[in-house]
Amino acid sequence: MTHILVVEDEVAIAEGLRFNFEQEGFQVTVREDGQSALAVLQDEANPVDLVILDLMLPGMSGYETCESIRRFNTVVPILILSARTLSEDKMRAFDCGTDQYMTKPFALPELLARVRNLLERRQALAAANLEGKLISPKLDPRDTKFQFGQVTVNYLTFQVHVGDRTHNLTTLEMQLLRYFIEREGQVLSRSQILEKVWAQSPDVTTRTVDNFVLRLRRVIEPDPARPLYILSVRGTGYRFVRTPEDATHSPV
Ligand code: CA
Repeated sequence: MTHILVVEDEVAIAEGLRFNFEQEGFQVTVREDGQSALAVLQDEANPVDLVILDLMLPGMSGYETCESIRRFNTVVPILILSARTLSEDKMRAFDCGTDQYMTKPFALPELLARVRNLLERRQALAAANLEGKLISPKLDPRDTKFQFGQVTVNYLTFQVHVGDRTHNLTTLEMQLLRYFIEREGQVLSRSQILEKVWAQSPDVTTRTVDNFVLRLRRVIEPDPARPLYILSVRGTGYRFVRTPEDATHSPV
């Protein structure tokens, strides 16, 4: 049974979510603070498939909770549900490794649709990885890794190895990197990336794409200020190249 962890200190909201998710056939665990939510996530006997996280919590904040989760679990989808509507809050949440951001008050059908979407996306990604069914014909269908320069991307573990350093990517970071890699050499517009990678997140802006690209560059580029692999295309978006081009000819 799909297991959803709700981290919410307002009892009425928490119990409303529990009721509705149970109606949908999910197993629901509710915790009122970050610390006890982390304990649930570390229980290997009952793995969590998705986290719904409030930002304003007693003790550690939702941001801190999200960061703590990402230190040991980079793959579980996290959906932040918060009364905070500022784009700075959303940016910060995405920086902490959340996959989706929804503001309160929320429409239940939309929340359910987003939860299903996150679960499906995660399952499809895991299935594609496990069965070695990679979408791009350029990749060895049995290969779960992609290599360029000093960088090795592991689609199965969501890890990026650069030299002897290992970085753990979130689901969204890995999806974006994979989206670039599978469209090597193509110019990809910000809105196209948003539509394909962020799918059903109408409240994120193209600035989020730029933010994520900066983060990927910090991981994969030898000098993030002078990118060799994820190139900026002025006025449009980005283009991934596996082999660095002559720097003088690539607009950055
Ligand atoms: Ca709260």
